[in-house]
Amino acid sequence: AALRQDADGRGPGRTADGRPVDLLVNIGSAADLAGVGPVEVSGVAGVGLFRTEFLFLDREKEPTFDEQARAYAEVFRAAGERPVVVRTLDAGADKPLPFLGLPDEPNPALGVRGLRVARLRPETLDVQLAAIAEAAVQTGAQVHVMAPMVATAREAAEFVDRARGHGLGNVGVMVEVPAAALRAGRLLEVADFLSIGTNDLAQYTLAVDRQNGDLPDLLDPWQPALLQLIAQCAEAGRARGKPVSVCGEAAGDPLLAPVLAGLGIDKLSMAPRGVAAVRAALAEHDMAACRRMADAALDADDAAGARTAALAAR
Ligand code: PEP
Ligand code: MG
Repeated sequence: AALRQDADGRGPGRTADGRPVDLLVNIGSAADLAGVGPVEVSGVAGVGLFRTEFLFLDREKEPTFDEQARAYAEVFRAAGERPVVVRTLDAGADKPLPFLGLPDEPNPALGVRGLRVARLRPETLDVQLAAIAEAAVQTGAQVHVMAPMVATAREAAEFVDRARGHGLGNVGVMVEVPAAALRAGRLLEVADFLSIGTNDLAQYTLAVDRQNGDLPDLLDPWQPALLQLIAQCAEAGRARGKPVSVCGEAAGDPLLAPVLAGLGIDKLSMAPRGVAAVRAALAEHDMAACRRMADAALDADDAAGARTAALAAR
């Protein structure tokens, strides 16, 4: 009966042989949760990525502690019983904010962005973490927090300490830089979970600006090099019994979902509109098929080859 429900387009994510794969959503505000609906129907296990930039963009002044706490509490209430993974501010040279007063950089994607901003403006991160903690206490929600653009295990450890210092209990980091993927095991010695941001991880692994429209075959989450880094993170999570999710746009690709499951990923966070197709795709493949597809994709020489090979291996 449970599997019939999946085929009907309801219920939580799982493979044809019943292996759970959590389906989560990426949001930027409480409004983005409006259409998600009850868990039994939507099957959405929670918010895997809450991008907090919306509060900060187009502002002359930094949002205050109170203003932030109110905005976060609104999202936590909208999520109800479901966990919310809050990502700390991902701004910097690539998404400049006037109040940060950061210098212009010739290569902003390779400069002071994401967690790196805290080196120059530590108080901005501290106010944000304090506001997230306050909203968590006010609402009693299951709140997780993570940092973007982490490159080293030292940065991960410092972020985790800082977040715990604000009373936050479940602290992870994003894997968006190849260095972080290569050191996933070391990151997981200090972090409670990893979340792989495939948009940036593709950009930095293939050396293609994510805004560049001319090299789509390279800037493609099916690139075997990217899949290999994802597999390495999943293996590190399995070895330490800690969750590793994918929260970049790739998680919403229905053909890639069984591949990611086959690589060992058991949480996929995507734009809400992607959930139904991913749920249906998972329900069509058992774990043996997922692993065959993953092996075939890893064995390819480029992204198109990986897609073709995964399709043939189903
Ligand atoms: C990513 O890089 O994959 C990600 C989820 O973060 P963003 O798209 O906000 O950079
Ligand atoms: Mg990113």
